[in-house]
Amino acid sequence: MAIAPPTIASLQSQGVPGFFVTCSNPLCQQSTPIDFETLSLDPATPLPEIEKKRSFVCPACGSKQVSTLPDWRADWVEG
Ligand SMILES: [Zn+2]
Repeated sequence: MAIAPPTIASLQSQGVPGFFVTCSNPLCQQSTPIDFETLSLDPATPLPEIEKKRSFVCPACGSKQVSTLPDWRADWVEG
């Protein structure tokens, strides 16, 4: 049985403000943080679907092969 991927809403409820788009080029691996709010996607969108609904281009090498990872900044506090 497959484990359901986390959705935007479930991540936000855990205090995750966004995600990292990481370049899949092994020689590049540029990583860029993006807030969920800036994408204006349905909160029910599973995280792996984001890269299908929005096309990301690596700012460093121009690759469109990217992966998305939750931005676990849960311990961060605003100063
Ligand atoms: Zn890249």
